[in-house]
Amino acid sequence: MRYITAPWREAYVRSAGKSRGCVLCRAGKARAGASAHVLLRGRQAFVLLNKYPYQTGHLMIAPLRHLASPEDAPAALLNEMTALLQRSLKALRTAYAPHGLNIGMNLGRSAGAGVADHFHLHVVPRWTGDSNFMPVIGGAKVMIEDLDATFARLRPLFAARPRAAQR
Ligand SMILES: [Zn+2]
Repeated sequence: MRYITAPWREAYVRSAGKSRGCVLCRAGKARAGASAHVLLRGRQAFVLLNKYPYQTGHLMIAPLRHLASPEDAPAALLNEMTALLQRSLKALRTAYAPHGLNIGMNLGRSAGAGVADHFHLHVVPRWTGDSNFMPVIGGAKVMIEDLDATFARLRPLFAARPRAAQR
């Protein structure tokens, strides 16, 4: 096994300035609705459907701000992302009853990030017998449900206020 280190990439990974043309910044500013597939907008973070899902119900949780990596993020933002993760898991379990879920971040293009300088958390429902995680990360996948149908199914589950907030 050959290990590859590229310390100069740190500057690239940390380049938080290039928000122009960033699909996540654009989606974060878009009005909630079917076109941007934004399921929920919080104070500092939001939940949206992945336009190129690895699996039906593939969500992403991202900061509204253009931030390259969690170490640059304030604690309040990370806390909100954790709360959005809990809501996402509940919604996906209710809508799809997956057998399992993958949760993960790809930081930097070498790690597989499609949007390299705006960090985001992937939440991917899994079913016994579907592909392993690595092929899922690496390749295309035949979808069982189109994005508008996924959005229509999940949106009401995010629109409902979480029980914790009703106290
Ligand atoms: Zn961005």
